[in-house]
Amino acid sequence: MPKRALITGIAGQDGTYLTEMLLAKGYEVFGVLGPCPGAFADRMGQYEGRLHLIEADLTDMASVLAAVETSAPAEVYNFAAQSSVGQSWSDALTTTDINAVGVLRLLEAIRAAAPHARVFQASSAEMFGNAEESPQCETTPIRPESPYAIAKAYAFHLVAAYRKSYGLHASNGVMFNHESPLRSLDFVTRKITDGVARIKLGLMSELRLGNLDSRRDWGFAGDYVDAIWLMLQQDGPDDYVVASGEVHTVREFCEVAFSHVGLDYREHVVVDPAFFRPLDVNIQQGDASKARRVLGWSPKVGFSELVAMMVDADMERLG
Ligand code: GDP
Repeated sequence: MPKRALITGIAGQDGTYLTEMLLAKGYEVFGVLGPCPGAFADRMGQYEGRLHLIEADLTDMASVLAAVETSAPAEVYNFAAQSSVGQSWSDALTTTDINAVGVLRLLEAIRAAAPHARVFQASSAEMFGNAEESPQCETTPIRPESPYAIAKAYAFHLVAAYRKSYGLHASNGVMFNHESPLRSLDFVTRKITDGVARIKLGLMSELRLGNLDSRRDWGFAGDYVDAIWLMLQQDGPDDYVVASGEVHTVREFCEVAFSHVGLDYREHVVVDPAFFRPLDVNIQQGDASKARRVLGWSPKVGFSELVAMMVDADMERLG
C-alpha cells in the first residue's frame, strides 16, 4: 500500500514541488486545491491515478474534516495560507481566518480523524519581526509585526501545544523566504524577474518597486521541500528553521537579475512609495544549523543560480 499524504495549498509553489517529490517517491497524494489552481492540473496530468484533488477550505470546518477523513493520511502538509505579508495589511480578517484559525480547524480534524498522522505546518520567519538577534534560530523571541506574522505565530504556538498536550507528531518548519519560477507575482523576487524579462523583450520600460534596502534570506523552494519531508521522517516532532543563511538586499536581487540579461537595473527600476509597507521587516537571516545537524539537510541552489533560474524561466514564458 503506498503511503498517503494530504497536502493543503497543493497548487501553490511549495505544494507543487512537494507533490512532484512525493509522487516520485511512490506516495498516493491527496490535495486541497484552494482558490488558484493555475497551471497545476496540467503539470500534474502525468500522475493521474495517484493524485486526488479534494475541494475543501480551511475556513470551513466540515470541509476540513471531510478532507482528512477521505484521505486517511499518514502525513499532512499544511501550505494553505494567504501568503502575502503585503496583502495581510489590506485583508487582515481573511488572513487570520486561514493562517491562524484554519490551522486550528485542521489540527482538530486530525485529532478527530487521523490522530497518528504526522503533520507539517508551514511556519514563517516573519514571526521574528525586526529581531534584535541575527541570524534567527529556533530560540529567537517571536515578535510578529504584521497581521500575516501574527496569524503565523498563533499557528506555530498551537502546533507546539497540540504536540505537547495531545501527543500529535506535529512539526513547524520556520521557513525563510523561498523562491522559484513558481513563486507568485505578489513577491518581490518574481515581480523583479518577470519585470526583467518584460523589459528585455520590450514589453515594458520600467519596474516600480518599494524598499530596495530591505534584506532577505532567499533560498530555492525545491531545496526547502526536502527539509520539510525530512521533518516528518524523524521519530519525534520538532521545530526547525529552514534558511540559506545568506542575506541580500532587494537592490542586489535587481542587480543580479538585470545583469543576467545584460541590463543595468539603475536604468529601469523606479522607487515608488506606493510599494512601501506600513511597517516592514528590514532584515531576515536564518540559522538552519539544527536542520543541517538533525535532518542532514543542506540547500543546493545558491543565490545567483536562483536568480538566473527565475529570470530564464520568465524569459522563456514570455518570449
Ligand atoms: P516577504 O518577506 O514575505 O514580505 O516577501 P516579499 O517578497 O513580498 O517582500 C520582501 C521585501 O521586499 C519586503 O521588505 C518588501 O518591502 C520589499 N519590497 C520592495 N519592493 C517591493 C515590491 O514591489 N513588492 C513586494 N512584494 N515587496 C517589495
